[in-house]
Amino acid sequence: MRANGSILQTNADGSTIETWKDSERRHETTPNGDWMEVKEDGTHIQYSNEQKVKISKFKNGSELQENDDGSTIETDSEGMIIEKMGNIYIEIRTDGSRLQKDGETGISIEKFGDGTTVQTMPDHTRIVRRPNGHATQRNPNGTVIETWKDGRRVQTSLDGVRIEKFANGRTVQTDSSGTIIEKLADGTLLPPRQPKLVQKCVSCSKCTTIISIPNDTFVVCCPMCRHIMLGHQINVIGSGKTAAESKTKKVQWGTHDDSGSEVKTIFDRYDVNGSGGIDQTEVGNMLKDLNFPPTEFAEIFMSADDNSDGELQFHEFVEYFNELNSAILATAKPADLSMSAQMMEDQKAELSQAKEELVRMQKILEEKLSKATINNCDDLANEKRKADEQIVVIEAELKLREKHFETAVKEQHKRRHDALQAKLQARKDAKAK
Ligand SMILES: [Zn+2]
Repeated sequence: MRANGSILQTNADGSTIETWKDSERRHETTPNGDWMEVKEDGTHIQYSNEQKVKISKFKNGSELQENDDGSTIETDSEGMIIEKMGNIYIEIRTDGSRLQKDGETGISIEKFGDGTTVQTMPDHTRIVRRPNGHATQRNPNGTVIETWKDGRRVQTSLDGVRIEKFANGRTVQTDSSGTIIEKLADGTLLPPRQPKLVQKCVSCSKCTTIISIPNDTFVVCCPMCRHIMLGHQINVIGSGKTAAESKTKKVQWGTHDDSGSEVKTIFDRYDVNGSGGIDQTEVGNMLKDLNFPPTEFAEIFMSADDNSDGELQFHEFVEYFNELNSAILATAKPADLSMSAQMMEDQKAELSQAKEELVRMQKILEEKLSKATINNCDDLANEKRKADEQIVVIEAELKLREKHFETAVKEQHKRRHDALQAKLQARKDAKAK
């Protein structure tokens, strides 16, 4: 018996076994420097002297590998792997996605199961690359550059200017008023023209992705966060309207008797023959406007058509529309959700900064007001009132962004959870066989 309460046994080959009387604790060594230990809490540690690797297996199923060079590989109980090597951090998630961060360059790359990658630069520039060769780059100044496999490139900026460049050198530039200026591959400049269908640049009221839509579009589905919006209510870029001021802040769609709701507006718009019901063709027109094939989501139509008359009466349409909303959200790829969550986080940071700046200005104005003379007190009070108003607007917008952000993050977690559950179930099924 040793002073620490253990019993040490030394074997003829030089190996040792140390045990503790009242616990599971155990420590073994070999002459070549390997050792293993079982701790009181059940943690199992093994050290290989030759490989200089220490592996700890914890009771909850997680595992930690520590290498001699300081790098570590961690596997949590759900199977997520985290690797740390100097400045490099790698996360391999159970849904098949992978995140790599380089602490030195500040660049992080997220790779998803379908091959999509999202690259984030330290200045918040983000590039989404799809397996089909399509890439979207969002710059911090709001400019979006899209490129395709065939060499086509479209650049949209916050002032509403859109420049399309083809592989052969032809460029088509649309300015914020909708005028088109086209330059052919050989350099010939065509006279400016007005398009038949005027496009406008809008920004999604939820994630602020820039979307170019025909002026007469009635409903729009955001390609990034899959939020559905009414075309005439989305902020046209350059109009200076904030999301808090616009009417698009409504997140919840109408209820059965809410005859004044946006969903009623949509219903009335697509019930072209005024029959009081929307049939599959009319729903198809709406889906086309939302950029989906007209026959998509047929099963939702069927289940919402309670009386099976082939038409959706308003109360049925409300049900259909809410189901459609979730179904459309489910078409968002994990990369899109991750990207819109990141974008919303950026927006929140920018808004907080703007608010801080305003609060600072408010304080200065207050101080000035306290020393104001009869000549300038009106101007100062006016300035102060303006700052107060702006803060109210920013606060409302912050609240709204917070809500949107939560939805996006929740959706992301739900996707991850579902993917994990599916994987576990598949493993269970395979075992059962
Ligand atoms: Zn969006």
